[in-house]
Amino acid sequence: MYEYVGNLHAHTTYSDGAGTHAVVAAAAIRAGLDFVLTTDHNVLVQGVEGYYRNPDGRQVLLLTGEEAHDMQRDPQRNHLLVYGAHEEMAPAAQNRPPQRLLDAVNAAGGCAFLAHPIDRAVPWLGEGSYSWEDWDLQGYAGIELWNTMSSLKPLLATPFSTAVAVFDFPGRLAGPDPDILALWDRLLAEGRRVSAVGNSDAHATPMRAGPLKRVIFPYEMLFRMVNTHVLLEHPLTGDWRADGGALLEAVGRGRSFVGYGLPGDPRGFHFEARTESGETLATFGGDVRPGQTAELRISAPAPARLRLIRQGEVVKEGYGTALTYRPSQPGAYRAEAWRAYRGRERGWAFSNPIYVR
Ligand SMILES: [Zn+2]
Ligand SMILES: [Zn+2]
Repeated sequence: MYEYVGNLHAHTTYSDGAGTHAVVAAAAIRAGLDFVLTTDHNVLVQGVEGYYRNPDGRQVLLLTGEEAHDMQRDPQRNHLLVYGAHEEMAPAAQNRPPQRLLDAVNAAGGCAFLAHPIDRAVPWLGEGSYSWEDWDLQGYAGIELWNTMSSLKPLLATPFSTAVAVFDFPGRLAGPDPDILALWDRLLAEGRRVSAVGNSDAHATPMRAGPLKRVIFPYEMLFRMVNTHVLLEHPLTGDWRADGGALLEAVGRGRSFVGYGLPGDPRGFHFEARTESGETLATFGGDVRPGQTAELRISAPAPARLRLIRQGEVVKEGYGTALTYRPSQPGAYRAEAWRAYRGRERGWAFSNPIYVR
């Protein structure tokens, strides 16, 4: 398996972001990403995709999708991340229920994730909530489990907490919103296939305070934080169309995990189902039959608190670099790793489920 790390939610000057695609690509390279996908609001930017290189020769694959929603809806809700559709999807979102947009994305061969499904309002700053609201929905690939910028909003309850969070965001960020983890487990318990992605939602907007102007959350900083780690059976080839197709197909199937880079590099985190003789049956997003699987195995690149969760219930937990469990019941099993960083345990890696059924 070949692991590629990328970010699948960022804004450019085509919507409310401050940087061009070239600026986003250069920041992604400096942060060590293999790919980055921009999602401007209700616009699919074409003609900018491809491999970008920095002067030192390092490169990144830049892809584009979009974040589409019904702009007439009041209040604004239901932001949908659209990947791999290769055509403008925003018109299908206008004055229609989100199912129509989802159907159009799937018909175009793309896949869709519900962006920041639970998003907190910050009333004193006039910031609204952009949660997902219409849950009578079929055909989405998954949810955005961890959106870095949306994770900032609960830290902005008062002017003082805002000053602390803006000054030291990494010190305050602990993990995905527990309510989004619980939401994911509920959807899995209903028997749905729901994959997760983790993204920045970077805008790199300059903040002004009198004569001072500063970008407080630049692209590069956010690209070092929460990302999606994609597992491929074959290495990338250098052909951007083929590589983009392979990455987005894997993202849509959940052959990935969400990783947070600051507590340590989560590359190498793994979750698999194995036979008695140690043969791999399935990894992230895979399916196995109950009688087939001797054990589920989590492994981490460094010691961490590992948890195996079946539809909201922690079935095994331990500290170290590996954890195994013999599943006795069918269900969607997922793995988590939590690691200490600056004196506090942080969410480090969140696998997509292995479906035992
Ligand atoms: Zn959004
Ligand atoms: Zn966004």
